[in-house]
Amino acid sequence: MNTQTDQPWVAQDAVVMKSHPAEPKSQSYPSQLPAWVPDLSIVIPAMNEEESLGTLHERLLDVCKRAKQRVEIIFIDDGSTDSTWLRMQSLAAQHAGTKAIRLRRNFGKAAALSAGFSIARGNVVVTMDADLQDDPEEIPRFLQSLDENSLDVVSGWKRVRHDPWHKVFPSRVFNAMVSGLTGVRLHDHNCGFKAYRHDVLGEVDLYGERHRFIPVLAAARGWRVGEIEVLHHPRVHGQSKYGLSRLGKGFLDLMSIYLLTGYARRPLHLIGSAGLLCFAAGSIGMIYLSIMWVLTRLGDGEALHLHATAVFYYCILAVLLGAQCVLAGLIAELIVSVSAARDRSLQSMQGGRLPAGVDTPTASFSRPSVLYSVSELAGFDAADGPSGDDHATAGTR
Ligand code: UDP
Ligand code: MG
Repeated sequence: MNTQTDQPWVAQDAVVMKSHPAEPKSQSYPSQLPAWVPDLSIVIPAMNEEESLGTLHERLLDVCKRAKQRVEIIFIDDGSTDSTWLRMQSLAAQHAGTKAIRLRRNFGKAAALSAGFSIARGNVVVTMDADLQDDPEEIPRFLQSLDENSLDVVSGWKRVRHDPWHKVFPSRVFNAMVSGLTGVRLHDHNCGFKAYRHDVLGEVDLYGERHRFIPVLAAARGWRVGEIEVLHHPRVHGQSKYGLSRLGKGFLDLMSIYLLTGYARRPLHLIGSAGLLCFAAGSIGMIYLSIMWVLTRLGDGEALHLHATAVFYYCILAVLLGAQCVLAGLIAELIVSVSAARDRSLQSMQGGRLPAGVDTPTASFSRPSVLYSVSELAGFDAADGPSGDDHATAGTR
């Protein structure tokens, strides 16, 4: 069993990956950075996974030791009601480089990941599930793929999946929809096993259940995204935390991601186009009905009575709806332009004058915003503990 002092799993002559500098390029919190920066941070959200944590931790240490990676393991207890937190605390106490965060209640996987990202310091950050369905032996392949294919995000693809059909089938449909709508063609968007270059995570806002869309959000910011096939094992302990409700929520999230990645800066093009289409259809119908109203009165036949024609009401509805949508699109444009102007004035107050889309050097190493509530930390020294409003700065022992 490793102890805090011997830490044999942290390779003394660690092999740093080819394309990763030993130190981060820039640092927002230089006074709080520890003496060494891990090559790799492994972020593991867990909710009621007490039986799996010990085995997972042991296997991770073994893999990282063999891969000669300087590694930190970050567990996040997402409001567990079993002894998951006790297990995490004991692992963090026994092993340097292992840290644990406890969220005050169950905030969901995205918030748990976000908590982990906010303290992860590795040049590469790997996320995986805590239930032993993801195989730690795959981690070196993720690192290899990042390097060899010059990627920024590598997503796992559980090609052979050990889950019941009622999870696998909707998941395939969902993946096809996400790939088709966003243009980010991955087989398995929902796979929890992924690897990121650290800088990617500073640009992704995680809340709700957006963890499924990190590759899409990253691709929208210009990061290169790829995938590798990974082994998947059946769940041995505990139960899946997701039921069929995931489908509906996933679909709604997809709509919001589609809007945010494609039209966040030009909402009128989406909402206004739909409005114009609706308005045009209604108007054409009204013109047709007006002509018919006149013509039927000129001839001998029965006159057209608009109040008795159902299409007349549909046309009115379409015209009103279309006008509403165009108006909503214009208001959305107004909001975007006001917030862009506010961002610009904030930037000029801070002395920054970079064009939109170009990050300041410090922003590229900044932490994701924290949208959760943390109750306890384990594995953090006083030296790297809370400092001002930055409660979760990590360090080494
Ligand atoms: N999880 C979490 N918070 C939640 C739901 C899940 O931290 O609200 C964790 C869970 O403990 C596991 C991972 O997310 O480590 C994936 O969950 P699960 O295995 O239930 O998903 P499935 O594999 O069934 O899709
Ligand atoms: Mg699972």
